[in-house]
Amino acid sequence: KALLVSGASGFVALHIVGELLSEGFEVVGTVRSQAQADKLLARFKAKYPHGSLTYSIVPDISKDCAFDKVFETVDDIDYVLHTASPFSFGLEGTLEDIYLIPAVNGTLNMLKSVHKLAPQVSKVVVTSSMASIQNFDKVGDASFIHTESTWNPIQWDEVTDENMAYVASKKLAEKAAWDFVKDNDVKFKLNTVTPPYIFGPQYFEEDASLDKINTSSGLIAALLKSDPKDTHLFSEPSLCAVDVRDVAKAHCFALRPEISNERLFVASERFTLQGILDIINKDFPELDGKIAKGQPEGEKSIPTSYFDNSKTKEIMGGYEFVPLETSVFDTVKQLLEQGNLK
Ligand code: NDP
Repeated sequence: KALLVSGASGFVALHIVGELLSEGFEVVGTVRSQAQADKLLARFKAKYPHGSLTYSIVPDISKDCAFDKVFETVDDIDYVLHTASPFSFGLEGTLEDIYLIPAVNGTLNMLKSVHKLAPQVSKVVVTSSMASIQNFDKVGDASFIHTESTWNPIQWDEVTDENMAYVASKKLAEKAAWDFVKDNDVKFKLNTVTPPYIFGPQYFEEDASLDKINTSSGLIAALLKSDPKDTHLFSEPSLCAVDVRDVAKAHCFALRPEISNERLFVASERFTLQGILDIINKDFPELDGKIAKGQPEGEKSIPTSYFDNSKTKEIMGGYEFVPLETSVFDTVKQLLEQGNLK
Protein backbone atom coordinates (compact mmCIF):
# COMPACT_ATOMS: atom_id res chain seq x y z
CA LYS A 1 0.00 0.00 0.00
CA ALA A 2 1.28 3.50 -0.85
CA LEU A 3 1.05 6.44 1.49
CA LEU A 4 1.53 10.15 1.07
CA VAL A 5 3.01 12.01 4.06
CA SER A 6 3.04 15.82 3.84
CA GLY A 7 5.60 17.84 5.81
CA ALA A 8 7.88 14.82 5.68
CA SER A 9 10.91 16.72 6.99
CA GLY A 10 9.28 17.50 10.35
CA PHE A 11 10.06 16.14 13.83
CA VAL A 12 6.87 14.07 13.97
CA ALA A 13 6.76 13.11 10.29
CA LEU A 14 10.26 11.61 10.33
CA HIS A 15 9.11 9.16 13.01
CA ILE A 16 5.95 8.45 11.00
CA VAL A 17 7.94 7.76 7.82
CA GLY A 18 10.32 5.49 9.77
CA GLU A 19 7.39 3.60 11.31
CA LEU A 20 5.72 3.16 7.91
CA LEU A 21 8.92 1.92 6.25
CA SER A 22 9.42 -0.55 9.10
CA GLU A 23 5.90 -1.85 8.42
CA GLY A 24 6.70 -2.29 4.72
CA PHE A 25 4.57 0.53 3.30
CA GLU A 26 5.52 2.40 0.15
CA VAL A 27 6.00 6.01 1.23
CA VAL A 28 5.85 9.23 -0.77
CA GLY A 29 6.84 12.26 1.30
CA THR A 30 6.31 15.91 0.44
CA VAL A 31 9.09 18.34 1.39
CA ARG A 32 9.75 21.91 0.38
CA SER A 33 13.01 21.48 -1.52
CA GLN A 34 15.07 18.99 -3.49
CA ALA A 35 17.94 19.50 -1.04
CA GLN A 36 15.72 18.26 1.84
CA ALA A 37 14.58 15.32 -0.30
CA ASP A 38 18.16 14.30 -1.15
CA LYS A 39 19.32 14.53 2.47
CA LEU A 40 16.39 12.49 3.83
CA LEU A 41 16.57 9.89 1.09
CA ALA A 42 20.22 9.21 1.93
CA ARG A 43 19.48 9.00 5.67
CA PHE A 44 16.51 6.64 5.30
CA LYS A 45 18.33 4.48 2.73
CA ALA A 46 21.01 3.88 5.36
CA LYS A 47 18.35 2.59 7.80
CA TYR A 48 16.02 0.89 5.32
CA PRO A 49 18.07 -0.08 2.24
CA HIS A 50 15.10 -1.97 0.78
CA GLY A 51 12.40 0.50 1.83
CA SER A 52 10.28 2.14 -0.84
CA LEU A 53 10.60 5.90 -0.34
CA THR A 54 10.32 8.80 -2.77
CA TYR A 55 9.79 12.53 -2.34
CA SER A 56 7.66 15.07 -4.11
CA ILE A 57 8.44 18.79 -3.80
CA VAL A 58 5.66 21.04 -2.46
CA PRO A 59 7.29 24.38 -1.64
CA ASP A 60 4.22 25.92 0.02
CA ILE A 61 1.13 24.03 1.15
CA SER A 62 -0.91 27.25 1.31
CA LYS A 63 -0.82 27.89 -2.44
CA ASP A 64 -4.00 26.89 -4.31
CA CYS A 65 -3.82 23.35 -5.71
CA ALA A 66 -0.50 22.85 -3.87
CA PHE A 67 -0.83 19.06 -3.90
CA ASP A 68 -2.38 18.57 -7.35
CA LYS A 69 0.95 17.84 -9.00
CA VAL A 70 1.67 15.10 -6.49
CA PHE A 71 -1.55 13.23 -7.31
CA GLU A 72 -1.11 13.85 -11.04
CA THR A 73 2.34 12.25 -11.01
CA VAL A 74 1.89 9.47 -8.44
CA ASP A 75 -1.26 7.54 -9.22
CA ASP A 76 -1.43 4.74 -6.67
CA ILE A 77 -1.72 6.53 -3.32
CA ASP A 78 -4.05 4.66 -0.96
CA TYR A 79 -3.68 6.72 2.21
CA VAL A 80 -2.77 10.30 3.06
CA LEU A 81 -1.23 11.62 6.26
CA HIS A 82 -1.29 15.41 6.35
CA THR A 83 1.19 16.52 9.01
CA ALA A 84 2.51 19.75 7.47
CA SER A 85 1.61 22.87 9.42
CA PRO A 86 3.70 25.77 10.70
CA PHE A 87 4.95 25.21 14.24
CA SER A 88 7.73 27.75 14.80
CA PHE A 89 7.77 31.01 16.70
CA GLY A 90 9.57 34.31 16.16
CA LEU A 91 8.96 34.45 12.40
CA GLU A 92 8.43 37.69 10.47
CA GLY A 93 5.06 38.44 8.89
CA THR A 94 1.41 38.69 9.84
CA LEU A 95 -0.09 36.04 12.12
CA GLU A 96 -2.55 35.18 9.32
CA ASP A 97 0.21 34.57 6.80
CA ILE A 98 2.48 32.65 9.18
CA TYR A 99 -0.08 30.42 10.92
CA LEU A 100 -3.70 30.64 9.83
CA ILE A 101 -3.40 30.42 6.05
CA PRO A 102 -0.87 27.54 5.84
CA ALA A 103 -2.70 25.55 8.52
CA VAL A 104 -6.23 25.96 7.16
CA ASN A 105 -5.58 26.29 3.43
CA GLY A 106 -2.85 23.63 3.57
CA THR A 107 -5.33 21.17 5.06
CA LEU A 108 -8.10 22.12 2.64
CA ASN A 109 -5.73 21.98 -0.33
CA MET A 110 -4.83 18.41 0.59
CA LEU A 111 -8.47 17.36 0.99
CA LYS A 112 -9.50 19.10 -2.24
CA SER A 113 -6.74 17.37 -4.23
CA VAL A 114 -7.67 13.96 -2.85
CA HIS A 115 -11.37 14.59 -3.55
CA LYS A 116 -10.72 15.83 -7.09
CA LEU A 117 -7.83 13.65 -8.26
CA ALA A 118 -7.51 10.54 -6.09
CA PRO A 119 -10.81 8.69 -5.62
CA GLN A 120 -8.86 5.54 -4.68
CA VAL A 121 -7.65 7.12 -1.40
CA SER A 122 -9.56 5.41 1.39
CA LYS A 123 -8.27 7.28 4.41
CA VAL A 124 -6.95 10.75 5.21
CA VAL A 125 -5.37 11.40 8.60
CA VAL A 126 -4.83 15.02 9.60
CA THR A 127 -2.33 15.83 12.34
CA SER A 128 -4.26 18.24 14.50
CA SER A 129 -3.33 19.15 18.07
CA MET A 130 -4.62 19.18 21.61
CA ALA A 131 -4.72 22.91 20.87
CA SER A 132 -8.04 22.17 19.19
CA ILE A 133 -9.31 20.41 22.36
CA GLN A 134 -7.79 22.51 25.13
CA ASN A 135 -9.99 25.01 26.96
CA PHE A 136 -7.35 27.34 28.35
CA ASP A 137 -9.70 28.92 30.87
CA LYS A 138 -10.15 25.46 32.43
CA VAL A 139 -6.49 24.92 33.30
CA GLY A 140 -6.51 23.93 36.98
CA ASP A 141 -10.25 23.06 36.97
CA ALA A 142 -10.37 19.40 38.01
CA SER A 143 -14.09 19.27 37.21
CA PHE A 144 -13.43 20.01 33.49
CA ILE A 145 -12.15 16.89 31.76
CA HIS A 146 -10.78 17.27 28.23
CA THR A 147 -11.77 14.31 26.04
CA GLU A 148 -11.95 13.35 22.36
CA SER A 149 -15.18 15.31 22.02
CA THR A 150 -14.01 18.57 23.61
CA TRP A 151 -13.38 21.57 21.32
CA ASN A 152 -11.38 24.69 22.06
CA PRO A 153 -13.89 27.54 21.56
CA ILE A 154 -11.20 29.97 20.28
CA GLN A 155 -11.94 32.03 17.15
CA TRP A 156 -9.40 33.87 15.02
CA ASP A 157 -10.59 37.33 16.08
CA GLU A 158 -9.55 36.57 19.68
CA VAL A 159 -5.91 36.01 18.69
CA THR A 160 -3.47 38.55 20.14
CA ASP A 161 -0.08 36.81 19.94
CA GLU A 162 1.81 34.07 18.13
CA ASN A 163 1.03 31.37 20.70
CA MET A 164 -2.68 32.02 20.36
CA ALA A 165 -2.27 32.21 16.59
CA TYR A 166 -0.73 28.74 16.49
CA VAL A 167 -3.44 27.34 18.76
CA ALA A 168 -6.27 28.92 16.75
CA SER A 169 -4.68 27.83 13.45
CA LYS A 170 -4.73 24.19 14.57
CA LYS A 171 -8.30 24.33 15.86
CA LEU A 172 -9.58 26.09 12.73
CA ALA A 173 -7.68 23.71 10.42
CA GLU A 174 -9.13 20.64 12.12
CA LYS A 175 -12.61 22.16 12.07
CA ALA A 176 -12.20 22.94 8.36
CA ALA A 177 -11.26 19.31 7.68
CA TRP A 178 -14.35 17.90 9.43
CA ASP A 179 -16.55 20.51 7.68
CA PHE A 180 -15.07 19.59 4.29
CA VAL A 181 -15.93 15.93 4.83
CA LYS A 182 -19.45 16.84 5.98
CA ASP A 183 -20.11 19.22 3.09
CA ASN A 184 -18.67 17.18 0.19
CA ASP A 185 -19.49 13.76 -1.11
CA VAL A 186 -16.00 12.43 -0.36
CA LYS A 187 -14.92 8.84 -0.98
CA PHE A 188 -12.37 8.76 1.83
CA LYS A 189 -12.77 8.51 5.60
CA LEU A 190 -11.14 11.06 7.90
CA ASN A 191 -9.38 10.67 11.24
CA THR A 192 -7.49 13.32 13.14
CA VAL A 193 -4.72 12.91 15.70
CA THR A 194 -4.73 15.52 18.48
CA PRO A 195 -1.47 15.33 20.44
CA PRO A 196 -0.48 17.74 23.20
CA TYR A 197 3.21 18.79 23.57
CA ILE A 198 5.31 16.13 21.87
CA PHE A 199 8.63 15.13 23.43
CA GLY A 200 11.01 12.26 22.78
CA PRO A 201 14.13 11.67 20.71
CA GLN A 202 14.76 13.00 17.23
CA TYR A 203 14.36 10.24 14.65
CA PHE A 204 17.86 10.97 13.34
CA GLU A 205 20.15 11.59 16.30
CA GLU A 206 22.18 14.15 14.35
CA ASP A 207 19.10 16.43 14.50
CA ALA A 208 19.39 16.62 18.32
CA SER A 209 20.84 20.08 18.86
CA LEU A 210 20.39 22.49 21.76
CA ASP A 211 20.49 25.47 19.43
CA LYS A 212 18.41 24.33 16.47
CA ILE A 213 15.62 21.94 17.33
CA ASN A 214 11.88 21.64 16.72
CA THR A 215 9.62 23.84 18.83
CA SER A 216 8.28 21.33 21.39
CA SER A 217 11.68 19.68 22.03
CA GLY A 218 12.97 23.23 22.43
CA LEU A 219 11.26 23.37 25.84
CA ILE A 220 13.56 20.62 27.10
CA ALA A 221 16.60 22.04 25.29
CA ALA A 222 15.96 25.37 27.06
CA LEU A 223 16.03 23.63 30.45
CA LEU A 224 19.43 22.15 29.59
CA LYS A 225 20.62 25.70 28.93
CA SER A 226 19.09 27.08 32.15
CA ASP A 227 21.12 29.00 34.70
CA PRO A 228 22.24 26.73 37.57
CA LYS A 229 21.62 29.62 39.98
CA ASP A 230 17.98 29.93 38.90
CA THR A 231 15.66 29.18 41.83
CA HIS A 232 12.31 30.36 40.45
CA LEU A 233 9.43 27.92 40.06
CA PHE A 234 9.29 26.87 36.39
CA SER A 235 5.50 27.10 36.15
CA GLU A 236 4.74 27.73 32.45
CA PRO A 237 3.45 25.93 30.49
CA SER A 238 1.45 23.39 32.43
CA LEU A 239 -0.32 21.18 29.96
CA CYS A 240 -0.10 17.59 28.69
CA ALA A 241 2.62 15.62 26.98
CA VAL A 242 3.02 12.62 24.70
CA ASP A 243 5.98 10.80 23.20
CA VAL A 244 6.73 11.27 19.51
CA ARG A 245 6.98 7.49 19.02
CA ASP A 246 3.40 7.12 20.26
CA VAL A 247 2.23 9.90 17.96
CA ALA A 248 3.79 8.08 14.99
CA LYS A 249 2.11 4.81 16.02
CA ALA A 250 -1.25 6.58 16.40
CA HIS A 251 -1.02 7.80 12.79
CA CYS A 252 -0.53 4.16 11.73
CA PHE A 253 -3.50 3.00 13.83
CA ALA A 254 -5.58 5.73 12.22
CA LEU A 255 -5.09 4.03 8.83
CA ARG A 256 -7.04 0.95 9.91
CA PRO A 257 -10.35 0.63 8.08
CA GLU A 258 -12.27 -0.04 11.30
CA ILE A 259 -11.10 3.29 12.78
CA SER A 260 -12.93 6.15 11.08
CA ASN A 261 -14.39 9.55 11.97
CA GLU A 262 -12.29 9.60 15.13
CA ARG A 263 -10.13 12.14 16.89
CA LEU A 264 -7.26 10.14 18.38
CA PHE A 265 -6.33 12.03 21.54
CA VAL A 266 -2.85 10.69 22.17
CA ALA A 267 -1.61 11.95 25.53
CA SER A 268 0.36 10.36 28.34
CA GLU A 269 0.62 12.70 31.32
CA ARG A 270 0.23 16.26 32.48
CA PHE A 271 3.49 18.13 32.82
CA THR A 272 5.01 21.35 34.08
CA LEU A 273 8.48 22.62 33.24
CA GLN A 274 9.39 22.30 36.92
CA GLY A 275 8.31 18.64 36.81
CA ILE A 276 10.52 18.07 33.76
CA LEU A 277 13.41 19.84 35.49
CA ASP A 278 12.92 17.57 38.52
CA ILE A 279 13.10 14.49 36.23
CA ILE A 280 16.27 15.74 34.55
CA ASN A 281 17.96 16.55 37.86
CA LYS A 282 17.00 13.15 39.30
CA ASP A 283 17.95 11.07 36.23
CA PHE A 284 21.11 12.96 35.24
CA PRO A 285 23.03 13.64 38.48
CA GLU A 286 26.04 14.56 36.34
CA LEU A 287 24.21 17.80 35.49
CA ASP A 288 24.36 18.93 39.13
CA GLY A 289 25.60 22.52 39.17
CA LYS A 290 25.25 22.83 35.38
CA ILE A 291 21.50 23.47 35.05
CA ALA A 292 18.81 25.04 37.22
CA LYS A 293 16.99 23.20 39.97
CA GLY A 294 14.12 25.68 40.16
CA GLN A 295 11.95 24.70 43.11
CA PRO A 296 12.02 20.90 43.35
CA GLU A 297 8.62 19.45 44.30
CA GLY A 298 7.09 22.90 43.70
CA GLU A 299 5.20 21.62 40.64
CA LYS A 300 2.47 20.18 42.87
CA SER A 301 1.23 23.75 43.38
CA ILE A 302 0.98 24.52 39.63
CA PRO A 303 -2.50 24.18 38.09
CA THR A 304 -2.61 21.87 35.05
CA SER A 305 -5.18 20.52 32.59
CA TYR A 306 -7.26 17.45 33.31
CA PHE A 307 -7.96 14.94 30.58
CA ASP A 308 -9.39 11.50 29.93
CA ASN A 309 -8.37 9.80 26.69
CA SER A 310 -9.55 6.31 27.60
CA LYS A 311 -11.61 6.19 24.38
CA THR A 312 -8.45 6.61 22.30
CA LYS A 313 -6.56 4.00 24.34
CA GLU A 314 -9.43 1.59 23.75
CA ILE A 315 -9.53 2.34 20.00
CA MET A 316 -5.79 1.66 19.96
CA GLY A 317 -6.31 -1.77 21.53
CA GLY A 318 -5.56 -0.92 25.18
CA TYR A 319 -2.47 1.05 24.17
CA GLU A 320 -0.04 2.16 26.89
CA PHE A 321 1.62 5.51 26.22
CA VAL A 322 5.31 6.04 26.91
CA PRO A 323 5.56 7.66 30.38
CA LEU A 324 6.68 11.30 30.54
CA GLU A 325 9.84 10.36 32.44
CA THR A 326 10.95 8.03 29.63
CA SER A 327 10.28 10.69 26.97
CA VAL A 328 12.26 13.26 28.91
CA PHE A 329 15.08 10.81 29.66
CA ASP A 330 15.42 9.76 26.01
CA THR A 331 15.30 13.38 24.79
CA VAL A 332 17.97 14.55 27.23
CA LYS A 333 20.18 11.48 26.74
CA GLN A 334 20.24 12.08 22.99
CA LEU A 335 21.01 15.78 23.40
CA LEU A 336 23.86 14.98 25.80
CA GLU A 337 25.22 12.26 23.51
CA GLN A 338 25.33 14.76 20.68
CA GLY A 339 27.76 16.72 22.85
CA ASN A 340 25.52 19.71 23.11
CA LEU A 341 26.07 20.74 26.71
CA LYS A 342 29.14 22.77 27.59
P1 NDP B 1 7.97 20.65 12.55
O1 NDP B 1 8.12 22.13 12.49
O2 NDP B 1 9.16 19.83 12.86
O3 NDP B 1 7.34 20.13 11.20
C1 NDP B 1 6.41 20.87 10.46
C2 NDP B 1 6.46 20.42 9.02
O4 NDP B 1 5.53 21.18 8.24
C3 NDP B 1 7.84 20.64 8.38
O5 NDP B 1 8.09 19.59 7.50
C4 NDP B 1 7.64 21.95 7.62
O6 NDP B 1 8.54 22.11 6.54
C5 NDP B 1 6.22 21.77 7.13
N1 NDP B 1 5.59 23.04 6.77
C6 NDP B 1 5.21 24.03 7.61
N2 NDP B 1 4.68 25.04 6.91
C7 NDP B 1 4.74 24.69 5.60
C8 NDP B 1 4.35 25.32 4.38
N3 NDP B 1 3.80 26.53 4.36
N4 NDP B 1 4.57 24.66 3.22
C9 NDP B 1 5.15 23.43 3.22
N5 NDP B 1 5.52 22.78 4.35
C10 NDP B 1 5.32 23.41 5.52
O7 NDP B 1 6.82 20.40 13.61
P2 NDP B 1 6.29 19.04 14.27
O8 NDP B 1 6.86 17.87 13.61
O9 NDP B 1 6.43 19.21 15.72
O10 NDP B 1 4.74 19.15 13.92
C11 NDP B 1 4.13 18.29 12.96
C12 NDP B 1 2.63 18.42 13.09
O11 NDP B 1 2.25 18.05 14.41
C13 NDP B 1 2.11 19.84 12.87
O12 NDP B 1 0.86 19.73 12.23
C14 NDP B 1 1.94 20.35 14.29
O13 NDP B 1 0.99 21.39 14.36
C15 NDP B 1 1.46 19.08 14.98
N6 NDP B 1 1.65 19.08 16.42
C16 NDP B 1 2.91 19.16 16.95
C17 NDP B 1 3.07 19.14 18.32
C18 NDP B 1 4.42 19.18 18.96
O14 NDP B 1 4.48 19.34 20.20
N7 NDP B 1 5.51 19.01 18.23
C19 NDP B 1 1.91 19.08 19.22
C20 NDP B 1 0.64 18.95 18.55
C21 NDP B 1 0.53 18.96 17.20
P3 NDP B 1 9.98 22.82 6.76
O15 NDP B 1 10.68 21.99 7.81
O16 NDP B 1 10.62 22.77 5.45
O17 NDP B 1 9.67 24.20 7.26
